[in-house]
Amino acid sequence: MNVAIVTGAARGIGAATASLLAEQGMAVALLDVEEAALAETTGRLAEKGHLVRALRCDVGLRTSVEAAILEVETQLGAVQVLVNNAGVGGPFHRVDEVSDEEWDWIINTNLKSVFLFTRNLLPKMKAQGYGRIVNVASIQGFLGSARSSTYVASKHGMVGYTRTIAAEWGAYGITANAVCPGYVDTALGIQPAAVQDYLAKVMAKSPVQRVAQPREIAELIAFLASPNAGYLNGAVIPIDGGITAHVGIT
Ligand code: NAD
Repeated sequence: MNVAIVTGAARGIGAATASLLAEQGMAVALLDVEEAALAETTGRLAEKGHLVRALRCDVGLRTSVEAAILEVETQLGAVQVLVNNAGVGGPFHRVDEVSDEEWDWIINTNLKSVFLFTRNLLPKMKAQGYGRIVNVASIQGFLGSARSSTYVASKHGMVGYTRTIAAEWGAYGITANAVCPGYVDTALGIQPAAVQDYLAKVMAKSPVQRVAQPREIAELIAFLASPNAGYLNGAVIPIDGGITAHVGIT
């Protein structure tokens, strides 16, 4: 049985991913800072008979990440699948409005976290001759976006980092890929009041004219996390209903 870590699994895309990986027979460790929501999500999966664990982890803090990984290994065994999903959007600020604290919070949560988890787990995956790393980036991992510079920087960093892991570790049975959602029905995605006007304009020009449900993103993540995806490595995959496939004039 493969053991998977899903970060940011209390709700949204992470919760949907943890659920799908568990349904597909993996033992899943759900990591998050929101303990109440985490307990609820994990409890729902445990009630269905899945092998799951909830662990409080602040993904931007080395000590917290190392302690969580050790706990997963102790409780469930060696890790084969890592889904770096935890993320924060932050306030919508222009570059000159961004504080040091805001920059550090977003970069640490979205990007340093990927470094902390992969640095620890890659050598162990190499020893097993198998590993699947799926990084949840964004279409803002390859496009700019006004008033989201720090988020955009974190997601571009994630994309480049994913490609580099793929190049360094592909020879050892490990794949690393980036999933790039467009607009997803979650607290971070489409629910903030500040995005409603903008979102209506985007949806009017979106080929599918709707946002995604978290489960639709989880389906792609689960495929990339499966043994069947062994030849997909270093891929950066938009999953956005076609929003970035055209210039949107008509
Ligand atoms: P969400 O807010 O519903 O879920 C994010 C989860 O991450 C939450 O449970 C939150 O508690 C957790 N988290 C935040 N900071 C953390 C920390 N320091 N340590 C551990 N957990 C932490 O949002 P979501 O939309 O499900 O986001 C999941 C990922 O998808 C994020 O990386 C986000 O950037 C990415 N994404 C989302 C969208 C979208 O439209 N929703 C689009 C593109 C990319």
